[in-house]
Amino acid sequence: MRRFDLGGKAAIVTGGNGGIGLGMARGLAECGAALMVAGRDAGKNAAAVEELSGMGVEAAAIEVDLTQEAACKAMVQATVDRFGRLDILVNNAGTNIRKQPEEYSLEEWYRVLDTNLSSAFMCSQAAYPAMLAAGGGKIIMIGSMMTIFGASFSGPYAATKGGIVQMAKAMACAWAKDNIQVNSVLPGWIDTPLTRGARREVDGLEERVVARTPAGRWGDPDDLHGSAVFLASDASNFVTGQSLLVDGGWTAW
Ligand code: NDP
Repeated sequence: MRRFDLGGKAAIVTGGNGGIGLGMARGLAECGAALMVAGRDAGKNAAAVEELSGMGVEAAAIEVDLTQEAACKAMVQATVDRFGRLDILVNNAGTNIRKQPEEYSLEEWYRVLDTNLSSAFMCSQAAYPAMLAAGGGKIIMIGSMMTIFGASFSGPYAATKGGIVQMAKAMACAWAKDNIQVNSVLPGWIDTPLTRGARREVDGLEERVVARTPAGRWGDPDDLHGSAVFLASDASNFVTGQSLLVDGGWTAW
């Protein structure tokens, strides 16, 4: 299992205080990585740190709004100050506003773009010098089924989730020479606070997801463990610019 060992490595998971981010953070912690959790909610941050520390790794959190460039830089600096290095960045923080395209204000459009896409760009840019100093690194973007499919209620979200995967490919090409691999995970429908909102707002979604998913269930954040560990570890050193679907077979059908 040495290729999957993350002992001695330091990771940032944006939005690592709940949902998919915390699921991925648990996977990285299980394999020994020190964890910096970045989110806006101090209470959720503290609970995540307690849980991850309880797994026997060093863990810390920073309260940041990652739509701000200074916050992205501060997050990286805090990680290097605390753990002495940065090896892994999971750009997971995200949000959605569900409406028909004609109903969005421009402010809402930019809120989704800034949270899901610009933040991932700014965090990756901020992480680059620290990864260079570490001799390489791993960046993991989070796409979505809406990287691939359309949905009437998610125009801005789909734009960010298409964009983030293309951005990952560009960074993969640019930074391969620096031993930095950049890949995307595309989760299917996962049970989190975000999709609990979707189930309230979109009629019949709960049942449609179960019926349409060959695995016959919603995913759990812990279903993301393996993909995070693979793409963060030496096991994926010749894998870059790729997308890994973790969707219970949704796209296969
Ligand atoms: P959650 O709402 O549970 O998590 C979102 C996370 O992002 C929270 O930890 C939140 O922390 C953080 N966050 C949001 N805005 C900001 C901000 N401005 N600055 C810092 N942190 C922020 O949702 P999920 O776990 O479901 O989603 C995580 C990612 O997975 C998103 O990118 C989402 O698009 C993607 N995804 C989810 C799917 C699903 O089915 N659930 C499917 C496909 C993709 P805080 O509240 O503390 O700010």
